[in-house]
Amino acid sequence: MKSELKNLLAVGMFCLLALLGTGCGQEKAPKLVMVTNAAFPPFEYVEGKKIDGIDPAIIRLIAENLGFELEIQDMNFESLIAAVQSGKADIAAAGITVTEERKKQVLFSMPYVVTKQVIIVKKDSPISNSADLKNKRIGVQHGTTGDMYVTKNIQEPERYANGPLAVAALCAGKLDAAVIDGEPAEVFVAQRPILKILPEPLTAEEYAFAIGKHNPELYSKVNSELAKLKNSGQLDEIIAHYRQTHSQNAAQTQALDKGGLWEQLRSSFEINFVKDQRYLYLWRGFIVTLKVTFLALIMGIVIGFTVAVIRSAADQTGKLKLLNLFCRIYLTVIRGTPVVVQLLIIYFVIFGAVDVDKVVVAVIAFGINSGAYVAEIIRSGIMSIDRGQMEAGRSLGLSYAQTMRCVILPQAFKNVLPALGNEFIVLLKETSVSGFIALQDLTKGGDIIRSQTYDAFLPLIAVALIYLAVVMLLSTLLNGLEKRLKKNE
Ligand code: GLN
Repeated sequence: MKSELKNLLAVGMFCLLALLGTGCGQEKAPKLVMVTNAAFPPFEYVEGKKIDGIDPAIIRLIAENLGFELEIQDMNFESLIAAVQSGKADIAAAGITVTEERKKQVLFSMPYVVTKQVIIVKKDSPISNSADLKNKRIGVQHGTTGDMYVTKNIQEPERYANGPLAVAALCAGKLDAAVIDGEPAEVFVAQRPILKILPEPLTAEEYAFAIGKHNPELYSKVNSELAKLKNSGQLDEIIAHYRQTHSQNAAQTQALDKGGLWEQLRSSFEINFVKDQRYLYLWRGFIVTLKVTFLALIMGIVIGFTVAVIRSAADQTGKLKLLNLFCRIYLTVIRGTPVVVQLLIIYFVIFGAVDVDKVVVAVIAFGINSGAYVAEIIRSGIMSIDRGQMEAGRSLGLSYAQTMRCVILPQAFKNVLPALGNEFIVLLKETSVSGFIALQDLTKGGDIIRSQTYDAFLPLIAVALIYLAVVMLLSTLLNGLEKRLKKNE
């Protein structure tokens, strides 16, 4: 048992170091970091492993002309402005409408597209204009101009993380209308024939790129490059190219709305998983989920063991007061705040200005979080061992540390194995909030499929089944381990 524990600690340390190593080094300059919300076709969307669309294409060209290496990051729409403001990103390109409010926070390039907010309803809907929207269930994308318009002029809307999710909710009968930008609305409606766009637009808007106020130099460079693209006609070419590609793709999900129940289910399976190899989003997401869970688990065990031993030693010997205080603060803060908030703080605040791999961020966040729970589980295990055991160890001439390591911890570990197993299962499922920092884990993989097919049922069921299968496998393994440890007694 003793050597097993040592091995476990060594493996944990090794993995953490290796993982941290992947986040640093390999500095390639100069880099331009663009942030976007890739669920807004034809302006930005995920295709395979890549983020493509009008905005990425324009920025790619500008970056190339300015001699930058471009990196594109996906995040929630409402975080984009903050990301460029804080310096986490250089430029936000996401069909962002120029508004007076936003102008106070960032610099806007010259506008490159004129657009509007529109209302989408089901074809058989009694809603025919904005006046009919009052007291209806209206969906918007959180933080967008559609959200602002409805909130200010109609009522509190239902806020979704992106447009496609609002549209999926509309298709599923959860909403009476969705208010979103005109062009993505056309793409969505072309793919779901049960929907239509009402003729009367709600607003007139213009899109521009957002750059931090601390970066006027980049701002003027981008502006002059954009002007060149406009004058040369390249800008119009890019926009036309992506608009056309999307209208050609429109037919792909139409089948979702045709045929009987069985036929719909079959075509839903085809569209959600087979078409364009969409199952790969689930597969790749699954690998990310396993990676994050496994590494966070090891980090949690290392932290948990350390904290538990410090706390118990402090209780039993009255020493290590300062360390004990530190551990107690850690436990209070971590157990007193939600893991999503911790994840967001680690990503946006602690690693705010540095460029780290999102997997590393997630491992650190979930590892630190899990460590707190593991610590208390192990501590309760240590407390469950009769005090006489420590005294016996000491009277045999072993030091406190030796008794702890060779006598107490192995027994404690065995006693708390079921509770630890439970914590690991919780951890696996908790990583499903990784999508908040746009890490493409299993849940996010399902989200991406939903945002491409506007269908909620099968992607969600598939994601749930995969988690369930892993948890069942994990439980079986843990049961086996428990039995073996009992036999060795
Ligand atoms: N144009 C809208 C806004 O700026 C929505 C953009 C988007 O969803 N990407 O608020």
